[in-house]
Amino acid sequence: MAEVTCARCEKVGTALDHLPMAGARGALVRSRICVPCWELWVEESKLLINHHGIEVADPQQRKRLYPIMAEFLKLPEL
Ligand SMILES: [Zn+2]
Repeated sequence: MAEVTCARCEKVGTALDHLPMAGARGALVRSRICVPCWELWVEESKLLINHHGIEVADPQQRKRLYPIMAEFLKLPEL
């Protein structure tokens, strides 16, 4: 298991063993975010998706989540 120094919790933790999403965004998350913090975001994003009625299959709508995700994970703009 690879380790990361997590941008969100600032601890050394286990890296994701898969790309959580396609492209550079997924690579950045994988290289900067630990598994527990990613799982927190997954839970948070479910609430946001329900609350805002975001259709995640639609790339245009999915984009609305990226700035919120960047802030939540303390990553640069995604
Ligand atoms: Zn973390």
